[in-house]
Amino acid sequence: MKHKFSFLEVVFLKCPKCGNVIVEPSWLSDIDQDFQCADCGEFFSAKNNELDRKMLKFAIDEDERIENVSFEDSKKV
Ligand SMILES: [Zn+2]
Repeated sequence: MKHKFSFLEVVFLKCPKCGNVIVEPSWLSDIDQDFQCADCGEFFSAKNNELDRKMLKFAIDEDERIENVSFEDSKKV
């Protein structure tokens, strides 16, 4: 069985006001998008509140469905 793979880099952001942790696609942080915390409503800069980023690796099965997701090693920026 041959798998295809697709990748998405995500960032983990921490709300500076209440500490809520949010996961978003990394390009939103790279363009310095502001986020609103779903818990407390605070607007904050993604770039300045980034905890970590990870590359997600999606394994695609023969029916072109997502079979599983794992971490791929990525450099921290
Ligand atoms: Zn918050």
